[in-house]
Amino acid sequence: MIDDRDVLVIHDDRMLAHRPNAEEPFQPGKLDSRVQALLGGLFEGARDKWTYPEHPGRLLAITELLTREPVPGVRYATARPATEDQLGRVHATSYIENIYALRGKQAWLDADTTAVSPGSVDAAEVAAGAAIAAVDAVMEGRAGSAFALCRPPGHHADAVRARGFCLFNNVAVAAAHAHAKLGCGRVLIIDWDVHHGNGTQDIFWASPDVMFFDTHRAPPFYPGSGNKEEIGAGLGEGLTVNVPLPAGCGDPALVKVYREILTPAVAWFKPDLILVSAGFDMHRLDHCMNLSYSGFGALTGIVQGLADTYCNGRLAMVLEGGYNLESLARGVHSVLEVLAGAEPPAIEEPGISEVAELADYHREAFH
Ligand SMILES: [Zn+2]
Repeated sequence: MIDDRDVLVIHDDRMLAHRPNAEEPFQPGKLDSRVQALLGGLFEGARDKWTYPEHPGRLLAITELLTREPVPGVRYATARPATEDQLGRVHATSYIENIYALRGKQAWLDADTTAVSPGSVDAAEVAAGAAIAAVDAVMEGRAGSAFALCRPPGHHADAVRARGFCLFNNVAVAAAHAHAKLGCGRVLIIDWDVHHGNGTQDIFWASPDVMFFDTHRAPPFYPGSGNKEEIGAGLGEGLTVNVPLPAGCGDPALVKVYREILTPAVAWFKPDLILVSAGFDMHRLDHCMNLSYSGFGALTGIVQGLADTYCNGRLAMVLEGGYNLESLARGVHSVLEVLAGAEPPAIEEPGISEVAELADYHREAFH
C-alpha cells in the first residue's frame, strides 16, 4: 500500500542558483559550432537556438508536481554543502580548487556543454551534499529510502573534469562517503540515465568496493563510452557492468535487463547499500528511448526488491538527467510512489492493451 514505506526527498533551493545562460542563446563563434556539433548526439533537433537545457525549471517542475499531487509517505529535508574533504574522496584536489576559483563567476568550463553561473559552485556543493544527506538518512535508519533532487547532475564528471552539465559527481561522492564513514564495505551504483555514466565508471574503475551497473543508449551516443567490454580493471575488474542498448528500447527490454543481468550481479556482489543515478531521459517524451512512467515504476520495484533482499532496504536515489519537464516531473513522481510502497506497475509493449480493446470491438464484425 502506498504510504507504508517512508521516503525522504532531499530538496534545497540553493540548487536553483545554478543557471548558466538559461535563457540566452549559446554564445556565438567557434565554441558554438563545436558544441552544436556535439549536440547532434545529445539533443537531436536542437541545433538552431540552443539554450542550456539543464536549467532551474527542471527542479521547479518536479517540486510543483509534488506540491500539486503529493505522494503519501514522502517527507522533505534540505542539505548541507559537501565539504572539500567529502569531494576530495573522488575528485583531485587541483580540480576542486579550480572549481572553487569559479565561485561567483560566469564561465564555460568545457566545450562539452558544461558552464557555470555566479551561483553554480554553491549549487554544486549542495547537490553533492544532498546525495550525502540521502545516504546518511537511509544508513542511519531515518528513512526507508531517499531521493536527492540534485542539480547540477553528476555522473559525467570524473576525478579531474567537468563534463555534460556535471561539476561534481554527486552519486560518487555519496558512495565514497558511505564507504569511508558509514561502514558500507560494498556499494552498488545503478545508473539508468539514457547517457552512459562515464565519470562514475572512471572514478570506480579499479575499486573493489563499488559495483557500477549502467544501462544506456549504446556508443557513439553521448558520451561515447559504455561498451560491454568495459568491465573495470585491477582490483575492480568485473565490477563495472555496462549494458549498451539500441535506440527505441522500452519497458519490456529494460525490465528484462534488470531481471536477467542486474539481479544475478547483485546476488553475487551482495551490496551493503544501493544507490541509483536516476535520470529520466529514457522516457519516450525525452530522447531516443521508449520508457513509460510504468517502466520507471517497474525498475524501481525491482531495485527496491533487491535492496530489501540484500541490504535491509537501504536505497538512495540521486537525480541525473531528464530534460522534458513533463516526463521528468511525472517520472520522479512515479518512482516516489513505488518507493513509498505502491505496487510496482505492470508493464507491456506500448499500445498492446489498446490493440486488445480494438480487437474485441472489431471481432464481432467478421463472425
Ligand atoms: Zn542523461
